[in-house]
Amino acid sequence: MASKSKKTNGRVYLVGAGPGEPGLMTLRGRDLIAQADCLVYDALVAPAMLAWTKPDCEKIYVGKRAGNHALPQEEMNALLADCAGKYTCTVRLKGGDPYVFGRGGEEAEYLHAAGIPFEVVPGITSAIAGPAYAGIPVTHRSCCSQFTVFTGHEGAGKQPCALDIKGIAAAQGTKVMLMGMSRLRATMEALMAAGQAGEVPAAAVQWAATGRQKKVIATVASLADAAEAAGVGAPAVVVIGEVVNLAEKLDWRARLPLAGRRIVVTRTREQAGELSAALSALGADVMELPTIRIADPTDRRDFAEAVVDSPHYDWLIFSSPNGVQRFFRAFFAVYEDIRELGGARIAAVGPATAAELKKYGLMVDVMPQKAVAEELVAEFDRKADDFGGVANVTMLWVHSEQGRDVIYKELMKRQAIVDECIAYNTVPETEDPTGAGARLAQEGADVITFTSSSTVRNFMALNIPLPKDCRIASIGPVTTATLREFGLAPHVEAREYTIPGLVQAVQSLFA
Ligand code: SAH
Repeated sequence: MASKSKKTNGRVYLVGAGPGEPGLMTLRGRDLIAQADCLVYDALVAPAMLAWTKPDCEKIYVGKRAGNHALPQEEMNALLADCAGKYTCTVRLKGGDPYVFGRGGEEAEYLHAAGIPFEVVPGITSAIAGPAYAGIPVTHRSCCSQFTVFTGHEGAGKQPCALDIKGIAAAQGTKVMLMGMSRLRATMEALMAAGQAGEVPAAAVQWAATGRQKKVIATVASLADAAEAAGVGAPAVVVIGEVVNLAEKLDWRARLPLAGRRIVVTRTREQAGELSAALSALGADVMELPTIRIADPTDRRDFAEAVVDSPHYDWLIFSSPNGVQRFFRAFFAVYEDIRELGGARIAAVGPATAAELKKYGLMVDVMPQKAVAEELVAEFDRKADDFGGVANVTMLWVHSEQGRDVIYKELMKRQAIVDECIAYNTVPETEDPTGAGARLAQEGADVITFTSSSTVRNFMALNIPLPKDCRIASIGPVTTATLREFGLAPHVEAREYTIPGLVQAVQSLFA
């Protein structure tokens, strides 16, 4: 039981995460995740949502994984009470809707009894979204005017059977079953024995609204065999009814260009979002396996001093979007006004870095179309007449601890006075809260994407063998060169060295 003696202002939010696709979460739910001091989540929650949390949010996984059982409900309740004692905002994130077979009701009752304030944020249930993502509307004017949702968990073969099999068999309209895969055959047989027509169309949709979505279409009588043959198992939504006849015609999802392709994203968890979202939107099954993390530079004092001195330079040169973010986070810790930066000219290594600068209202004076150091130097040469060259000009070069020193050396050669501002350190990511590493090793992938040399180096350091037939996509020539150092040849390299360029390159593999 929760100890009532602990005085707390903590609130618990029971939030529905939707069926899988992160875009199907409510705005309210997303805001709460961003505010949460503690996030308690289970297996059917999209990993991408974990990246919406604050950096210091405590994340607690309570689902089943690889042989571990889910937390028993009493322990779950006690955990929520404990979190409410420690944190102002605890988000209990549940797949689909928290009150549709999610035990949300039990948790709410418990919180109420313990005197812990709570709120509920409904989510899109898989009972409706699952069929929709497989081309099946749960109702349709021409064939049904009601639908029934039931759990297969309490169904046939379980003693005592809590399901009203007769009532479900006799019901009109569409029938949707959740948690029914382990007893699928017995439940279908029991329904037929109770009068359900065996020839009515039926479908099972596994991992609906995620990249791993798989469906099988059959009839009530043949669904168990068909699902077995197609390898469709839990978690799946089963739909019974005439609406299933629309599944082929309305399957918009299967027609997406990357449908059925599993693609690995190795960027940092914070930065994976843009690439993952673009690939998911094209139908891909995206697996985020962050190999690196952006950390403070080893010499934080040096960095701070360089930022304090930054208004005294003629030029500021930024080598990456991370550098821009880290630089300005430190800048605004010291200065209040962007005008303190003075009138320095600005150079960016490529379009993504320039886009990051634009967020601060800063335009760039020099930027190559191709985001590599050599091109930036060449661009300085091409534009030299515009600003009188770089000789005797002071420059602050903002970059990472790992980068190459091409910019430094080449600009020094041209008599510029270049100081370094090391804004961050790229370190190996050691956490894998979604089990992506194990999944990659077990299930393989169609493509693995590399967005920088450090993603390559740190992926190799993880020692996960590259799956058979897995193709490699590289964001540009520098990353490609690093791949070659490890004896790997990319199957495709982005023509424009940006995330959209990389997405295009991946798509071209399957054109
Ligand atoms: N509260 C959830 C349901 C929890 S019970 C909701 O509203 O969706 C868990 C069951 O939901 C699974 O056994 C499966 O039947 C179904 N389910 C949840 N997410 C699913 C998904 N992405 N694809 C298919 N079925 C899903």
